[in-house]
Amino acid sequence: MAPDGDTVFGKILRGEIPCDQVYGDDQCIAFRDVQPQAPVHLLVIPREPIAQLAEATDAHQSLLGHLLLVAARVARQEGLQSWRTVINSGAEAGQTVFHLHVHVIGGRPLAWPPG
Ligand code: AMP
Repeated sequence: MAPDGDTVFGKILRGEIPCDQVYGDDQCIAFRDVQPQAPVHLLVIPREPIAQLAEATDAHQSLLGHLLLVAARVARQEGLQSWRTVINSGAEAGQTVFHLHVHVIGGRPLAWPPG
């Protein structure tokens, strides 16, 4: 994360770098992950730059619910009937971009538990 808290997803939201967007509304956008881990790999991100789930508060309750509903919407839009939603919170959990995001992964059998 840059010192001012900006991230690559902030740049995407401002249109400074491109993305393959599949959905957008006043609260969030969804786009294809640049390094897909499955045939379908989307990211749903809030327009508000919350760094990670650990920093979300009660004030974000509605937004967090909205992100999950959009995750399901874009998964169905991609033709998926089963998929996985993942939110990594913190570096040890695998978070690399510190702008809250929901992964939507599907299109192949997925093993459990994850690594
Ligand atoms: P995480 O490791 O949970 O923080 O996930 C970050 C995700 O963002 C990774 O799956 C990256 O492949 C993805 N990513 C990073 N930069 C971009 C980008 N410019 N466009 C789309 N996805 C990106």
